[in-house]
Amino acid sequence: MALLAALSLVLGSSPASGAASSGPPVPILAYHHIGSAPPGAANPSLWVPGPRFRGQLRALDRAGYQAITLRRVWQAWHGRGKLPAQPVVISFDDGYASQAANAPALQARGWPGVLNLEVARLGVRGGLARGQVQALIRAGWELDAHSVTHPDLRKVSARRLHDEVAGSRQALQEAFGVRVDFFAYPYGRQNARVRAAVRRAGFLAATTTEREFASASADPFALGRVLVGAGDSPSSVLRMLRAGG
Ligand SMILES: [Zn+2]
Repeated sequence: MALLAALSLVLGSSPASGAASSGPPVPILAYHHIGSAPPGAANPSLWVPGPRFRGQLRALDRAGYQAITLRRVWQAWHGRGKLPAQPVVISFDDGYASQAANAPALQARGWPGVLNLEVARLGVRGGLARGQVQALIRAGWELDAHSVTHPDLRKVSARRLHDEVAGSRQALQEAFGVRVDFFAYPYGRQNARVRAAVRRAGFLAATTTEREFASASADPFALGRVLVGAGDSPSSVLRMLRAGG
């Protein structure tokens, strides 16, 4: 493998011919709700209060991190563009109104977010309105797919798997007029059959909730993410990043 890698370096590979995937691992943070969990919330650990969220961003900023999109990571891994010295991807799952409400904290730093939008959550109570998603896209956010109705994709029929995966890509591309090239598995759950469906739908890569950095040498359809929850202080987020996940 080393010899092959050296050979390809000598011979060179243009992006047009498909540059090899290589580059440093990049942490992808995964957020859900931004705000205080209401009484009886199903998963209170997935609610990060606003002040804590802003404290985490401030800590990342002060430590030299720079948030970028997954597309930019992907391009850099394939020979197009360079990564900042300390890249981080900040992703938000499902599509909650609180995510748009807290987007200015990212915008103040010139940082894009990555929105993993569940199609069925669009426009429902507590979810993002179409106009809010459009505003995030205008602010530089990347729109990624997160299925139509958020099932455990390992357990659905072949027909439904296709509808949830390819269907969510098509629905988002048509609704927002942007390319949707990355997928986030609902609950992070996937297997070989689910990964194959995501590849068939034309996605370039997909993210899980396995707690590890996204790596150019890993299966692009199983890129790890670091889940951030209510219990994570700004310094514990930094510690997770320094520890590599
Ligand atoms: Zn989700």
